[in-house]
Amino acid sequence: MTPKDWQGKCSLVREHFLSEAAKAASAEALEAVKVACLGRKGELTELLKSLKDFSLEDKKTLGPLGNALKQELSALFDAREAALKASELEAGLMADASDVTLPPYPFQRGRLHPLTLATRRIAGILERLGFAWADGPHVETERYNFDALNIPQNHPARAMQDTFYLNGPCRDKRLLRTHTSSVQIRYMEGRKPPLRIISPGRVFRKDALDASHSPVFHQVEGLYVDKNVSMADLKSTLTSLMRGLFGPKARIRFRPSFFPFVEPGVEVDATCSFCSGGARCPVCKGTGWLEMGGAGMVHPNVLKAVDIDPEQWSGFAFGMGIERLAMLDYGVNDIRAFYENDVRVLRQF
Ligand SMILES: [Zn+2]
Repeated sequence: MTPKDWQGKCSLVREHFLSEAAKAASAEALEAVKVACLGRKGELTELLKSLKDFSLEDKKTLGPLGNALKQELSALFDAREAALKASELEAGLMADASDVTLPPYPFQRGRLHPLTLATRRIAGILERLGFAWADGPHVETERYNFDALNIPQNHPARAMQDTFYLNGPCRDKRLLRTHTSSVQIRYMEGRKPPLRIISPGRVFRKDALDASHSPVFHQVEGLYVDKNVSMADLKSTLTSLMRGLFGPKARIRFRPSFFPFVEPGVEVDATCSFCSGGARCPVCKGTGWLEMGGAGMVHPNVLKAVDIDPEQWSGFAFGMGIERLAMLDYGVNDIRAFYENDVRVLRQF
């Protein structure tokens, strides 16, 4: 081969691969063209190898020509490859693209149940007063639901007609808790005062379902044990709660009452948020007061049951029905509205 022939071959290789590269329609096809040109057995590679048969003089002129051609073609392949990849990516994106101008599916947003909303409002107010959220199981033993709460063996609340007992192989009788007061015991057990908790949750009693009773309902329990806790602390806490719920003018009053786990015990009334004591108010029946729940100073026997010395520590506890608060707050006059899951009702909250 003369140097002229070699140069002629170089031009042919150049033209051939320029046109092949332009024809390649995909990055994959281009890669095959590249291998045919610059690969180990590629046409240009072979041509450059053949330089070894030329004289030193010829190599000096032909060598740079060959290298320049190699660089030109490499650069061309790289540029073509980048262009092909970009257009393939764009085609892929176009194939996956969604039409954002289409009308949406009629997805409806869910919302919180009114009882959840009421629970969160009550808990939010009490949490700002320093109460922490505590939880307990729905299935309880007699110890947590009755014994440790100073409820005597013959108390009517323990009777089969009031409490759901569970059948089972356990030595202790199992039951569905009848109040959230069981959480007081669970929380105080193994802890030392000061303690300040609320425990909202579901409770179970054998009540027939009617407009104001349900066998499953919700209570919120509050407990505060510390040094020198008094009825005044109880009253200020509950006043803050009622003002948070019913506005800054709300007031509360205590009526003496009896619950085995408190001494003294009181019923808590709050001023009616629907009237100012007018005789025609159907909610408070003209009294101006609404019953809110029970409360009192924690009975020394309850503290003793969880190894807290009643000589050193004192505390208050209160329990309220969440349904009752929600009914007053939202103007719902039938407790069943909370459980029937009628979306026409639930949608209003
Ligand atoms: Zn009223």
